[in-house]
Order: sequence, then structure tokens, then C-alpha cells
Amino acid sequence: MRSRIGVLLLAVSVSAASSAGEWIADTQAIMGTRVHVEVYHDDAALARSAIAAVMADMRRIDASMSPYIEASELSVMNREAATHAVTVSPELFGLLQRSLEFSVVTDGAFDVTFASAGRYYDYRASIAPDAATLEATLPAIDHRHLELIEPNLVRYHHPAVYVDLGGIAKGYAVDRGIAILQAHGIVEGIVEAGGDSRIIGDRHGRPWNVGVKDPRKDGAMAVLLPLANTAVSTSGDYERYFEKDGVRYHHIIDPDTGDSARAVRSVTILGPEATMTDALSTSVFVLGVEKGIELIDEHFPGVDAIVIDGDGRMHYSANLEPLR
Ligand code: ADP
Ligand code: MG
Repeated sequence: MRSRIGVLLLAVSVSAASSAGEWIADTQAIMGTRVHVEVYHDDAALARSAIAAVMADMRRIDASMSPYIEASELSVMNREAATHAVTVSPELFGLLQRSLEFSVVTDGAFDVTFASAGRYYDYRASIAPDAATLEATLPAIDHRHLELIEPNLVRYHHPAVYVDLGGIAKGYAVDRGIAILQAHGIVEGIVEAGGDSRIIGDRHGRPWNVGVKDPRKDGAMAVLLPLANTAVSTSGDYERYFEKDGVRYHHIIDPDTGDSARAVRSVTILGPEATMTDALSTSVFVLGVEKGIELIDEHFPGVDAIVIDGDGRMHYSANLEPLR
């Protein structure tokens, strides 16, 4: 990270090269979030078709991986995999494999079967599962119930298992978007899907300033990060939540309890690809300050974490310590 920020600070002092190019952007609502793509290119028509291709791919991923779409591949898997092995696309199989890798390295903090209980929360309607529902579904939260049989079969080994890829799919879609831009010859641009972004190049001689929101002050930023050539994901307890009897229920679930994870308020992860930063922001959120930062420092060299704890204090992974 030091290098990533250092290079950036240098880049700011170098004046932007003159060129005939321009920035082209589009924003659409996809996957229940705001998708924003912005690229720099000499050929505006090419830039526009590249952006359109990214948006189309995001819609394709949503159609296949959304748990809210009955006909999605994921929904079919959720309905059938507890009774028989279900054939899935190589893409879904690959993302499930990635998910299980994160489950192993996080010791179960990241677990796509969280939704076995997590599906019974309705944040818009302020509904949390009752004690009986939690008791019945908690045993189904365990990534070891998920069997992936090469090349493309999935089997659930508990009747109440329900998979939701909300902690990793947006990051995956962002990485796909960047690959699509690169295939169009684009070398400067950003793809954002809600709290998950990835930048290639810089802002034509300047850094992208990506803000980490203040978790308790609407519209305010806790810190502004000058970034280039990186993925960045933030998980917060303020995006989707309700309060009941003074307790905040939000969308990041501790797989051990089926309840919202409440050790921290926000986690930002910087790393090479968005699939990873997305999964890790959710993971570190569940693990809390100490275990979360330890996970990053010990297992993910080249990845950085900024954690805002329950008192609003900021904590950094070892690579970022010099910035304090
Ligand atoms: P968002 O960008 O949607 O705010 P986050 O990266 O913060 O997402 O991840 C939150 C989402 O991850 C939840 O909406 C849910 O779909 C999923 N999720 C919640 N808890 C877990 C968990 N323990 N492991 C894996 N995924 C989770
Ligand atoms: Mg995440």
C-alpha cells in the first residue's frame, strides 16, 4: 500500500498529460445498487460501447446470481441442492469455490450459507428472525454443508442451507467489468458497484479520491484515500439496517450467532482485485478489529485494511501504519 499511495502522491505533482481523450461515464441501478463506470479514451464511441458491455454483463450476473430472482441459477440451486446434486455454470461454481476459500482462511467468518438464517431478516420492514427460526436455521450456517463436486455439481448437506453471494458477487462483477474495459483497450477507468470499486490506471495524471464514509454522520467522510490501480471495498453497518429496542440490526451476519456482527462500524479493504476486497471487507467486519487486522497482516500481503470501531476510532493494518 505504501507504494500504491506513494506513487499516487508523486503522480499528483506531475501535470496531466495533454491529449485528445475525454472521460465518459454512465450510472445505472443494477444488483440492487448503484453501478457507475467511468473511463478515459480518445475514442468516445469505443468508450461508450465498452461501458455498455460492462453494464450488460452486470445484468447478466444479477440474472444468474440474485437470490431475489426466482429463475436465477442461484435460486434453482437453493431450491434443489439439498435433495440432489445440482449442475451449475462454471462461473457460479468458480465463485462458490472462491467463497469457500475465504471461509477456510477466515475460519468461517465469511460464509455464504449465512443466509440460511440471514434470509429471515427484512431490513426494510424492520424484521429480525424470532428465536425459534434462529434456532432451526443456525445449524444450517456452515460452509462445510456445501459440497462442490468438480467440475460443476453442488450439493447441500443440510436441509435448511440457503446460499447468498451478496458478500462477494458485486466484487466479482466489478472485476469482470474491469476485464471487459481492458479487452476494449481501456487503461484508465473505474468500475463501482455500491461499496465495491476497482480502478485501473489513475485519473489521467491524478489519483481517484475515494472516500470512506463516516459511519454515523450522513454525508460526511471519515477519510479520503487518493488511489490508483487498486480495488477498494467498504462494508458498513449503516447501509442496510433498522433499530429495535436500541439494537442495530444490519446486513452483515456473524455466522456463529445468526445475529448482526456488532464489533465494528465500518471496514475498508484495499487490494489487487475486487472479488477479494469485497469478501475481505465482510470478513474483517465479522472478525472485528484485532482478529480482522491480524487476518490481513498474516494472510494477505499487499492488502490493506482501515477499520472504524464501535467508538468511531480508526485502526489500520500494518502496511498503513505509517499513514497514521
Ligand atoms: P454491501 O456492499 O452489500 O453493503 P458488504 O460487502 O458489506 O455488502 O457485504 C454485505 C453482504 O454480504 C450482505 O448483504 C449479505 O448478502 C452478505 N453477508 C452478510 N454476512 C455475511 C457473512 N458472514 N459471510 C458472507 N456473506 C455475508
Ligand atoms: Mg464485502
